[in-house]
Amino acid sequence: MGNIIAIVGRPNVGKSTLFNRLTESSHAIVKEVSGVTRDRIYGRGEWNGIPFSVIDTGGYVKGSEDIFEGEIRKQVEIAIEEANVILFVVDATTGIVDLDETVAGILRKSKKKVLVIANKVDNNDRVGMSAEFWSFGLGEVFDLSAANGSGTGEILDEVVQYFDKEDPRGEEEANLPRIAVVGKPNVGKSSMINALTGEERNIVTNISGTTRDSIDTRYKAFGFDFMLIDTAGIRKKAKVTEDIEYYSVLRSVRTIEDSDVCIFMIDATEGIQKQDLTIYYMIEKNHKGVVVLVNKWDLVEKDTMTAVEYEKKLRNDLAPYNDVPIIFTSALTKQRIHKALEKAMDVFENRTRKISTSELNDVLLPIIDSNPPPSLKGKYVKIKYVQQLPTHAPAFAFFCNLPQYIPDSYKRFLENRLREMYNFEGVPVRIYFRKK
Ligand code: GDP
Ligand code: GDP
Repeated sequence: MGNIIAIVGRPNVGKSTLFNRLTESSHAIVKEVSGVTRDRIYGRGEWNGIPFSVIDTGGYVKGSEDIFEGEIRKQVEIAIEEANVILFVVDATTGIVDLDETVAGILRKSKKKVLVIANKVDNNDRVGMSAEFWSFGLGEVFDLSAANGSGTGEILDEVVQYFDKEDPRGEEEANLPRIAVVGKPNVGKSSMINALTGEERNIVTNISGTTRDSIDTRYKAFGFDFMLIDTAGIRKKAKVTEDIEYYSVLRSVRTIEDSDVCIFMIDATEGIQKQDLTIYYMIEKNHKGVVVLVNKWDLVEKDTMTAVEYEKKLRNDLAPYNDVPIIFTSALTKQRIHKALEKAMDVFENRTRKISTSELNDVLLPIIDSNPPPSLKGKYVKIKYVQQLPTHAPAFAFFCNLPQYIPDSYKRFLENRLREMYNFEGVPVRIYFRKK
């Protein structure tokens, strides 16, 4: 499952520029949270109503010309493993260079769909320059100017054809909550899964994913019945340990897309760091549910740092999206691991919560009446009614006369009211203003 595009190519061909074009760059990862800059490696985009994820595998070595061949190999391998479609970007103004050949060689051996993108074709004079890229033997070459956007539409029209069209899962399993365990290397994911599934008898079936070699386990115990998504990070344990954290983050994209709820683990002794936040951001942007586990709690000196203090700081680091369950666990001593599972199931419930239009309006319109959106440039915004959209994750449309005049702060105000009134703990809530 999943609609994942990976961008590969040597430095300076225009990967980041293309990334920004495909994702709404204003929503990209640029926010500073408590001094932590988030990487610009993952974003969401949409084409003709089809949402997708984009990963820029080159984000890590950005700006460096002398990238090692080994490095680029690793990036391309990740793209082959994680993506549905790979955009192989080359520079029409320089023509083919050695590193391009290296990338093309790896891609030729894979079975993944690859589009060769000849970038920097900014004007008609440059159109002929991309012809030599046919020699890669990777099929059609698409001209692009990532700088001015021309060619983007043709590329996306092609790309969406290679997304998974159907859910490969059987009917029974399709309705079960899909729970994934995600986090950086060494936070305790394998230990947690072992602790949860340790007892053989709890495992009902192993179902091999049809799209790739993932093993999803159906788990039935203590009144729970769900699918545990084996994460790429765990399957490729040997590989991952030699990877830097950056790559392990890229490797969690598909796992997150495959899930309904993510058990997101951090290491209590380290606190939340940059790569943790990047993963957290991916979960949120994918509109998946989340339970935060502060694992290895057994290692923390309880008299110097209490759970209450720890939680307060953590919520601050996770802001603004921090209406999420936080649980202090130890995969080692099995402390609170069932609580973690219980919460994941609660979050699954919250994510499927549907509120009738009449109830929503009864509850929200009086609040809106007494706290209307601020007037802007002398214009008054009138919100007429509210409706929950028929999406998988909670989303609400507020119909009004002047949607463009509503500030983000008012959006947050409405989201907070919704969160107070209904239990949306652990799930992102989307709010749209539509013209009526
Ligand atoms: P990356 O290293 O592959 O991510 O490349 P960047 O996106 O950072 O782009 C490298 C350079 O090429 C920057 O100076 C961009 O402004 C420039 N660039 C990117 N796309 C285009 C394009 O379509 N046309 C032209 N003329 N320049 C571009
Ligand atoms: P993964 O890379 O996220 O799958 O992490 P692992 O499950 O392999 O754990 C990494 C290391 O942390 C191993 O040495 C584990 O034994 C240890 N570990 C995992 N969870 C805990 C915990 O809750 N407490 C302590 N003290 N150690 C843990």
